[in-house]
Formats: sequence, C-alpha cells, structure tokens
Amino acid sequence: MKKDIHPEYFPKAKISCACGAAYVVGSTMPEISIELCAACHPFYTGTQKIIDAARRVEKFQTRAKSVATVATGKKVKTQKRAAQKAAKAGDDKKTA
Ligand SMILES: [Zn+2]
Repeated sequence: MKKDIHPEYFPKAKISCACGAAYVVGSTMPEISIELCAACHPFYTGTQKIIDAARRVEKFQTRAKSVATVATGKKVKTQKRAAQKAAKAGDDKKTA
C-alpha cells in the first residue's frame, strides 16, 4: 500500500444498532451507530415496521380517509345527474 494516502483502519470497529444489536467489523471508523440491522430490518424479521420520522404515512392515511368519505369528481357528478334524470322520468310517468 502507498504510504500516507489510506485512512486509519480499525479491524474491530463496533457497530451498534438502535434495536440493541452489536456487531464487530473492520472499518475506517472506530464506532458506528445505525438505525436498522439484519436483526431488526422488516425484510428479515417478516414484521411490518414503519420508520416514519416525518409522520408521512400518518398524514397520508388521514388524507386518504378524508378523500374516501367526501367523494367528488366527474364520476360522482354523472351519477348524481343520472339519479336526477331517473327521478324526473318517474315524475313524468306519474303525470302522464
Ligand atoms: Zn437492529
């Protein structure tokens, strides 16, 4: 290896996860703290775990719920119009 160009290597660097798991690996940093590891990642555990610091999922769910309850748009308008037409046609039959 060429001298004075490589960073210091720590053969027993400590990796600590937020879930409590700890690993020892070789690294150029003596200690690394991580949020996810093989012990707690949803892909390996098979459980759903939403890492959502900005509440994006929660905000989307509330928005989706409000959209589902208050339906608007062309489809709704055409349905409403069809219902009105049907009611009017029924009135016409009664008078005739
Ligand atoms: Zn972990």
